Amino acid sequence: MARHSRSTDDDGKKFEWKNWARVKRVGRYLRPYAWGYAVGILIISVSSVLTLLVTRMWGQLGGVGVSGEATAGPDLMAGLNIDMGDLEAIGWAILAILGVQAVLSFIRVYLFAHMTENMMLAMRRDAFQAVVSLPMSYYDTHSVGDLNSRISSDITAVQDVFTTTLAELLRQIIIVVGGIAALLYFSVHLTLLMLGTLPVMILAAIGFGRFIRKLSKRTQDQVAASNSIVQESLTGMVSVKSFAGEALEILRYLGSIREIRTLAMRGAIWRGAFASFIILFIFGAITLVIFRGADLMAEGGLASEHFFTFLLMTGLVAGSIGGLAAQFSALQRGLGAIDTLMDLLHEEREPVRAASELPATGSEAEHPADLEQAAAGWLAPSAVPKMKGAVRFEGVSFHYPNRPDMPVLRGLDLAIEAGHQVALVGPSGAGKSTIASLLLRFHAPTEGRISVDGKDLADYPLTGYRMRIAYVPQEVILFGGDIRSNIAYGKPGASDAEIEAAARQANAHEFITAFPEGYGTLVGDRGVQLSGGQRQRIAIARAILRDPDLLLLDEATSALDTASEKEVQVALERLMAGRSSLVIAHRLSTIRNADRIAVLHEGRVAEEGTHEELMAREGLYRNLVENQQLAGGN
Ligand code: ADP
Repeated sequence: MARHSRSTDDDGKKFEWKNWARVKRVGRYLRPYAWGYAVGILIISVSSVLTLLVTRMWGQLGGVGVSGEATAGPDLMAGLNIDMGDLEAIGWAILAILGVQAVLSFIRVYLFAHMTENMMLAMRRDAFQAVVSLPMSYYDTHSVGDLNSRISSDITAVQDVFTTTLAELLRQIIIVVGGIAALLYFSVHLTLLMLGTLPVMILAAIGFGRFIRKLSKRTQDQVAASNSIVQESLTGMVSVKSFAGEALEILRYLGSIREIRTLAMRGAIWRGAFASFIILFIFGAITLVIFRGADLMAEGGLASEHFFTFLLMTGLVAGSIGGLAAQFSALQRGLGAIDTLMDLLHEEREPVRAASELPATGSEAEHPADLEQAAAGWLAPSAVPKMKGAVRFEGVSFHYPNRPDMPVLRGLDLAIEAGHQVALVGPSGAGKSTIASLLLRFHAPTEGRISVDGKDLADYPLTGYRMRIAYVPQEVILFGGDIRSNIAYGKPGASDAEIEAAARQANAHEFITAFPEGYGTLVGDRGVQLSGGQRQRIAIARAILRDPDLLLLDEATSALDTASEKEVQVALERLMAGRSSLVIAHRLSTIRNADRIAVLHEGRVAEEGTHEELMAREGLYRNLVENQQLAGGN
């Protein structure tokens, strides 16, 4: 597996305006909630204005408390019909406004969560759908950990934007603009004084914010890189252990997490400096304003209620300006994440069928049982025209996209007659698995033609074609879940009776029913560990259930003991009977009965014939057989 991780430069995570066109595509997810967002915006606006109003009334309380009466003339609040000299009346009015705000806040949080969670559902679904629809070649050049983090952390960053960042941004803008307008109304002189310090702060804050964002992005990248190390070590635990590579892995991880610490600490220093900077200026501004305001009040140029209001509102406005910078950087982060996600959603995909047929929006009630039903409908192998399964490779050349200088196949010709078994033999690295992956359409030949029943592979609808094929890999990985669902993977919606019949044919029924839970036995990470032979028989049952027209079989090497090898062999023969099959043979003993054996050499079929024919020739095959017998194979 390639050890690539997303590099800092080309990941597109940093939002840039030139990517706006791509970011705009997120609008598709917003559109169903346009009304909800309009209501949300209205609520935020009303609630922000109420915050300003409450601040004004707090000032009134303070001012009346100090002077014992209302000294200012009627102002912005004249329309409220409250006795502005009566402390109790003001107190009750404040409580009433706070009550309204409390209700509005609850509605806002709930409304935004409702819309965002539905958007997230659609986005997660689409991102995962994009990921599983990517062609295999994508996985040759991208790390799995990376894709994983796109679905988890990038989507979370997007979620933050729509649940809090946008709302906060709006709230703070209203408070800053409305607050400054009110301040100007109370005292132009004091306001100008305060504003004298603001532009400096804002400019510095934006510059600072940008810089800090850069730092934190590098930290995030490093976290992703270290996560891939963990994941690689865990998935490759067998290699790690068998090569006593624990120390190496620890060192590799340590190097990476040290880098996280260094980057994070550098970020922390700057964030700290940022915070100090803001505090100094906000408090500096407040001190200055209090000082000058007290002066003005003493001179009789400012009513005490207005002075108190001014102080409170200055704090509110200054706080919001500070918050704006943080929200702005969160917005940038979120836009970057949206950009990456939209990029992923528009990666070139394989034309798999499930992807295009899933419902377009995620908000409708999708009961898991309905989904399963739908999947059974889409993916029923019987819903696709049957093939005879006559395969032809004509002059096929191939190199992997990421290794153009290393041809694997060079003008290969190979035919599988309908219903026949062809075994591929050849040394490791000869290209046997590559031939299977070309047949599975994981890759397309670089030259030449592969056809089934005379029709070019590329002319079959991809999903339909794959539904008529079954592939039994060498190393079977079962999905978390029970045995029943693992077998049913071959035919979504299969009945219990069908599953059991397939398991019987695959020689799996007995060992399955020996478990107390039978077919309901959980397997995979959290379930029982099955032996290689048992897993292979489950994969065979899955293939039998699928009833494919073309069978690809990567024979298990030597993982099986003699008893289970026999059982697997019998099951395989039942599976292959009368079916076009391509067997990647690792042990020559098991393919003697194959209709044809093709020996790969230098990217071509060098010899072809039955076992007897090939043995009669003094060629590669006979050599291989004799070598294997010498080596103690059978
Ligand atoms: P076999 O199955 O006969 O052992 P393979 O088909 O697996 O051989 O491999 C054929 C050649 O292609 C090998 O040299 C291998 O290194 C290369 N190869 C296999 N898979 C990939 C891949 N995903 N990307 C690049 N090269 C690959």
